[in-house]
Amino acid sequence: MTLITAAELLERILAGNRGWAKGSSERDYLGAPTDPLIHQPPVAVIGCSDARVMPAAVFGAAPGAIFTLRLPGHYTDIPVAAGMGFAVATAGARLVIVLGHEDCRAVDAAFKEYRTGTAPDKALAPLSGALAAGLYEAGGATSAEHAVDVNARHTAQKLLAQCPVLRYEISLGHAQLAVLRYSPSTKLLTVLEESVMPPRDATHSVD
Ligand SMILES: [Zn+2]
Repeated sequence: MTLITAAELLERILAGNRGWAKGSSERDYLGAPTDPLIHQPPVAVIGCSDARVMPAAVFGAAPGAIFTLRLPGHYTDIPVAAGMGFAVATAGARLVIVLGHEDCRAVDAAFKEYRTGTAPDKALAPLSGALAAGLYEAGGATSAEHAVDVNARHTAQKLLAQCPVLRYEISLGHAQLAVLRYSPSTKLLTVLEESVMPPRDATHSVD
């Protein structure tokens, strides 16, 4: 079996998304096994919990094709990065996607907290505070819309920092890390980063 390259997986996901936006019910296996007993997803996603942004659905992808990690605002920390390490090293994912989205309530709360120092949603405060700290760390954001992109790119950087397996596989050319933004209003994806590379001195082998 010939493996589909990460670049081709991304192309097929963008095509699948255009189909999803038009209401197509076609689902691409993206080279994943059609046997439901085999777990071998070629694509792994860190996305937001937002119910409108289901990664497999918006990618037009079939069951079994997408390994998914989701917290509000696609918050990432070491356990989440470990989940991604598992997806890449053990489950065989080759394309890793950070999936941000417009009209993200978690990013909106983080941006308000970044601007005012006060969490607007008490229930979400521990998480929005962590996301707001990420906005500071990334150099800030000028609007809630801008914060969506800043947060998505920052998640990719955090993932690289906290997932040595991913850095290693990218350095070998075995994996690719992309950053996409989804619009609930148009149902379309925008590519923010096609291929995020780790800092040169951050690549090292993993035992
Ligand atoms: Zn969201």
